[in-house]
Amino acid sequence: MWKDYIRKVVPYTPGEQPKNRKVIKLNTNENPYPPTPKVAKALEDFNKDCLRLYPDPTASALTKTLADYHGVDEDEVFVGVGSDDVIAMAFLTFFNSDKPILFPDITYSFYSVWADLYRIPYERPALDKDFKLVKEDYYKENGGIIFPNPNAPTSLAVSLDFIEDILKHNQDSLVIVDEAYIDFGGDSALALLNKYENLLVIRTFSKSRSMAGMRIGYAIGNKFLIKALNDVKYSYNSYTMNQTSLVFGKESVLDDNYFKETVDKIVATREHAKKRFEELGFTCLDSKANFLFVTHKCVPAKQIFTQLKENGIFVRYFDSPRIDNYLRVTIGTDEEMEALYKFLERYVVNA
Ligand code: PMP
Repeated sequence: MWKDYIRKVVPYTPGEQPKNRKVIKLNTNENPYPPTPKVAKALEDFNKDCLRLYPDPTASALTKTLADYHGVDEDEVFVGVGSDDVIAMAFLTFFNSDKPILFPDITYSFYSVWADLYRIPYERPALDKDFKLVKEDYYKENGGIIFPNPNAPTSLAVSLDFIEDILKHNQDSLVIVDEAYIDFGGDSALALLNKYENLLVIRTFSKSRSMAGMRIGYAIGNKFLIKALNDVKYSYNSYTMNQTSLVFGKESVLDDNYFKETVDKIVATREHAKKRFEELGFTCLDSKANFLFVTHKCVPAKQIFTQLKENGIFVRYFDSPRIDNYLRVTIGTDEEMEALYKFLERYVVNA
């Protein structure tokens, strides 16, 4: 029966994208500020005629801009359609051993979806009671390791020493550090690339560069790893970065001042938000990302989530073991955050 041979997958559940534009949207870790005005200008000047043509399969203009920005060679950069594409491609390319790959029990939920999809065995060492990664759990035999730094949805970062310990104990495995949120405060593992050939660092334009809608992600690693990724990519999905993403992505990287200003604004709002949440009776993990992970001392998270939603403020709630009394709140503009505190001031006190 053909029905017996359908690949069965439990898909990833993305955060809600409400049709109503008026809501305060703090549920999918997007950037509340627009991309650099240079992107808007490039959009105006965009040569529509090139839409007839297939994009450059090597994405060379964007790859070169990123290589220059990070001070690496072009053949050490791999670009893809969002870091989701880059990570999925990395799973397919590198995680082909019979040994289980390792990632934390509480982390980006797409990892287990891709592992299931590609039939990669995996184990998920538990974060400790404070939601911290336990490095010794990653010292056992494995088919590869991946974790985000800072982790999501916990928002906590690990130090470079921590990452280096994992690399040292795993010279036979590929270690992927998913740096989707690194620009907001953690220390980048890019600093370790020269020392460890088994390290791949993955980044995205979706958070700190305000370009989730463009779908741009990239990996940096040694030539051998990047070639392996490109070989797999060209074997089944060439031409995936569209013409517009290639042009606008480059403009974003070239405007470093705007990028830093925007990140600084979000970090300042986050630090203020930590205080406000604590004043309101929440416990707040020490976020190094563009979101907070919070729990209230008396009001259940699910109840707050539902009430916020009914009042046009969207945050993220995960109905999963250990984190079902937490909310993940993306850092919005100061005005958006004020509206959130105002609602909570009334709600958590009267609940
Ligand atoms: N990694 C982590 C940890 C994330 O939270 C996200 C965002 N959902 C991604 C990767 C993927 O981001 P994107 O595909 O937009 O680059």
